[in-house]
Amino acid sequence: MKKQTRNSLKRAAALLLALTLLSALTATAFADEEALDDGSPWVDYVLRENIQTVEARPETPRDDLYLYANYDWAKTTEIRPGYRSESSFNMVADEIREMSMAVLTDESLEGEDAELVQGLYSAFLDWDARNAAGVEPIQKIIDRIRDVSDLDGLTALFCDRDAHAGQFFAFSSSTGFNDPETYLLVLSTMGLLLGDSAEYAERTEMGERLEAAYRMAAGRMLPRFGYTEEEAEDMVDRALGLETELAGAIMTSAEQMSPDYIQRINNEMSLDEALATCRNFPLSTIIKGWGFDVAERCIVTEPAYFEKLDEVYTEERLEDLKNYLIVCAAIDNMGLLDRDSYEVSIAVSNMVNGSTGAEPDEEVAYQLVRGTLTTPMDRAFLAKYDATQMKEDITRICQECIDFYRRMLNEEEWLSAETRQKAIEKLDAITINAVYPDKWRDYSGLSLEGLDYFDSVMAISDFMEEYNRSLPNTKKDHKIWDFDILETNAYYNPQENSINIIRGILGGVFYQENMSREELYAGIGSVIGHEISHAFDTKGAQFDASGALNNWWTEADYNAFLSRDQKLIDFFNSMTAFGGYQVQGQNIQTEAIADMAGLKCMLGLLEEKGEVNYRDFFESYAKVWARLNTREMEYLCLMQDSHPLHYLRTNVTVQQFDQFLEAYDIREGDGMYLDPADRSLVW
Ligand SMILES: [Zn+2]
Repeated sequence: MKKQTRNSLKRAAALLLALTLLSALTATAFADEEALDDGSPWVDYVLRENIQTVEARPETPRDDLYLYANYDWAKTTEIRPGYRSESSFNMVADEIREMSMAVLTDESLEGEDAELVQGLYSAFLDWDARNAAGVEPIQKIIDRIRDVSDLDGLTALFCDRDAHAGQFFAFSSSTGFNDPETYLLVLSTMGLLLGDSAEYAERTEMGERLEAAYRMAAGRMLPRFGYTEEEAEDMVDRALGLETELAGAIMTSAEQMSPDYIQRINNEMSLDEALATCRNFPLSTIIKGWGFDVAERCIVTEPAYFEKLDEVYTEERLEDLKNYLIVCAAIDNMGLLDRDSYEVSIAVSNMVNGSTGAEPDEEVAYQLVRGTLTTPMDRAFLAKYDATQMKEDITRICQECIDFYRRMLNEEEWLSAETRQKAIEKLDAITINAVYPDKWRDYSGLSLEGLDYFDSVMAISDFMEEYNRSLPNTKKDHKIWDFDILETNAYYNPQENSINIIRGILGGVFYQENMSREELYAGIGSVIGHEISHAFDTKGAQFDASGALNNWWTEADYNAFLSRDQKLIDFFNSMTAFGGYQVQGQNIQTEAIADMAGLKCMLGLLEEKGEVNYRDFFESYAKVWARLNTREMEYLCLMQDSHPLHYLRTNVTVQQFDQFLEAYDIREGDGMYLDPADRSLVW
């Protein structure tokens, strides 16, 4: 799939800055073999191996609330085949999946949406047809790449929309940072085999793991296209060699998480200016070939990358460039082909995730349908399960939270009147996107009738491309939400100044009709509070009420904000997780700010409503973050996730508040005690 392979998916989304509750990390690696059970000030009991060392549930939460609240669940839960994690989020995702399965398999359902999603679902599971086609769909692509004899031929291949041969950069339509209402063209870098560009300067365990997995995959896939195993090995070497050159011009993951990231990628210019940046690399020809030259404005996220492409796009390097495309065609599309190829893709996933076995085919098919036919799946789901009451409830709670934030902002002593007023304007302008949208993207014209799985995926990809092409220069329709409402997650979108509390998170510990007020506020309430605070974290604070990148702070207030933020970063940096690894305060600052502000908001709201059972509230809150990870997954979360590890999201967040310390009579010497002078609340 040309826009959804590893090569383009990651970077094509470069402007989707949504600040989430959970991130979807794409790869993991082995952690250190030793010293799993250390960590300070708490042991990391999210790590599967660590929980097994605890004999009994602690009698009180005074030393470790996370362990106390989640012990029974963690001790008796096993990570399922094909999974790298189990969590309260997974349990809600399971509920949504069960319901979705009924949509995918109920033949009595009528309408275009049900027809599309059921068609793709059964095409995925039609192994007879997939095995009969074998690797032929990719063989055709590889043959075309092999047949290229000069740079002009390569350029022609890049311009051929039906070739599906991949690209060396990503292009997509998005609204800009300066004007969040109008679509422009975004030219960004491609994704790399080893994920983080820093891996090419200095390989970490994560990079080693990814490299081993891709070498294994290439060794099994390339021989199916006529290469020997020795040739396959050499082809991977050369592909990594080319990536090493390009990676020097691509921002590292750490750079992407730094507060100035948006300024660095916000290189807006006219399309002509953008296309003029390359002399050798046929940027202009490709953009015209794909029909995106209608765009008037353009963002080039990393100009240095295009300069680098210009350097390597020469006749001398033709074989290197072709080799790279062939390696990617073989390993990016494994999951779309026959059973043998599909099993290689599972083996890759197990090597990088530390998982074992495989998820049932039906579950993978469901995820695939949701990922590729998002709107039809969402609509078919809502047609079967009415959610109008939920939409009313969630809208109401969101509004309550916004009202309480107004009070919080008014009470902030460190803000000047000027900045306070701007903050409140921004708060009041927040759009509440609750549960599902009122308007949907049009899917008429898409038909999968008679297509096998591979061709269905290509047809959907082409259809989405056509839509993408229609966007530049047009105004954004805010009634249409461009994301999956069945995902178990929530978002703040700074470019829209919207909070998005969607259907897929409304279940389990987050939301039930008969919940106590404490459970409800610890669940979906704290999620909503978390998302609102992203409007005022280190990234969100750079966008104004309209969603434009625009500084609304006085200098003194912004400095005060940054110094409070620094205290929080230092606080997290003083901790170690498993294996002696330091917690990465810099990476998790925005999400930690959001967790603390969200909890503060919920405590305030509960108190407004009357008597509070604090123990119920804090224990419910701890259960929201219940999670069990493989070592590989926990290592990745520690090193690359913008969210604190789940035991820290629980323990560090609650210990900031008097209500918690008082509820359990926590004193100096207890593991959960924090000196009030060391609190690191930003809001
Ligand atoms: Zn968040």
